Amino acid sequence: MTDHDTVDHTGPCGCSSGSECAGGVCGPAPAAPSLPGRPAGQGRGIFDKELLDRCISCGFCLPACPTYALTGQEPSSPRGRITLMRALEAGDLAPDDPTLAEESSFCLGCRACETVCPAGVEYGQLLEQWRDHQWSGRNRPWIARTLMMLVSRPGLLRLQGLVRRHARGPGEKAGPRPAAPAPSSGEPPQQPVSLMLGCVERGLYPRVSRAVQRLCPEADVPAAQGCCGALHAHNGDSATGGKLARRLGEQLPGTILTTAGGCAAHLAHHLGRDRVRELSQYLDEKGHRPAGQVMVDGRRARAALQDSCHLRNGLGVTRPPRELIAAVADYVELPSAGKCCGAAGTYSMLRPADSKKVLDPKLSEVEAADVDYVVAVNPGCLRQLEQGLRRARSRAKAIHLAEFLALAAQPEPGRPGPAPRADGPKEP
Ligand code: SF4
Ligand code: SF4
Repeated sequence: MTDHDTVDHTGPCGCSSGSECAGGVCGPAPAAPSLPGRPAGQGRGIFDKELLDRCISCGFCLPACPTYALTGQEPSSPRGRITLMRALEAGDLAPDDPTLAEESSFCLGCRACETVCPAGVEYGQLLEQWRDHQWSGRNRPWIARTLMMLVSRPGLLRLQGLVRRHARGPGEKAGPRPAAPAPSSGEPPQQPVSLMLGCVERGLYPRVSRAVQRLCPEADVPAAQGCCGALHAHNGDSATGGKLARRLGEQLPGTILTTAGGCAAHLAHHLGRDRVRELSQYLDEKGHRPAGQVMVDGRRARAALQDSCHLRNGLGVTRPPRELIAAVADYVELPSAGKCCGAAGTYSMLRPADSKKVLDPKLSEVEAADVDYVVAVNPGCLRQLEQGLRRARSRAKAIHLAEFLALAAQPEPGRPGPAPRADGPKEP
């Protein structure tokens, strides 16, 4: 797979403003060409026609799109990509057209375009349908194919968690799990809470689930749990993505608690929003008051947040992680906190040069803000930030929200620990 700047893109923004163009908001894109030789309204059946028809080509989404910001080319914008999808659906572009292949891959899938769209275009769904077609079978990038194969094997997932020592359920660790808080009289019985371990996180960052167990001792950690299927859905196999989500819904009773914004959005789409809570959402809803504070060199730490695109743009969760960080450190809002970091699932592996171009301005912001920590709410973002900050030789450290809150609650040498509270974190 090539990076974007190796491909020749043609086509203007679509407006008639020339150098005055305001980033695509000034005029509609050229209409998708009609389908020669077929009755109007028929297509190849790749896309949900109602979803595809919603776009009114207004261009409001162009300034929100990180890939359009990189190239300034219409085909790299949400509107341009929807025009390509329409041409593919209509049969006006051959399925092996190189621009189709390039743009379906260059898109980060960040869904920032959805939040500004006045017509309610569900771009994330359209992208899944596009990749189902574009990346089917051997057309799927081999890295994505390999990862999908690995996470589909429950035995392998279990093994990596055992090796890396992620959180354990009561059947796997010594001692009983603390009981869920008893409901006060008159209140309905509380749902059980199941911590989802995540296929990336349990291998790369097992300390995150251990931190969650300290913050949420009421959460169970069922040993038998597979992948949620987000990886499949974002890489051209949405049918398996949905199947894995439903299977995980059967494996994890009650509320599914996840520390990955991308998994939360995918599961909420398939199981319903009521079944799923991302960690910051969950802590916010249960009225959790973080204990302690994070100190650096004897002062309160300065900490910024990197939003998870799917948590922010898919589920609309923005306030809880900020408030939780601000409770234990001096919160600093980076100008691009809500914009994609370039991790985007497999994107950083499939398109490393473009991924780096998306991340680099954020690294400069981190330096300018002089923060001690950049807090992530998704393991992919955490990995991307870790690598970027290391490359930039930054003194700032990337950390997951769960670890950050657990760090705050730890007594510092020479400093009295936080006073025990009824709802405070407990050691497992
Ligand atoms: S996706 Fe939405 S914002 Fe973008 S051009 Fe279409 S209707 Fe307008
Ligand atoms: S998902 Fe992100 S990168 Fe893709 S078109 Fe929308 S805003 Fe642009």
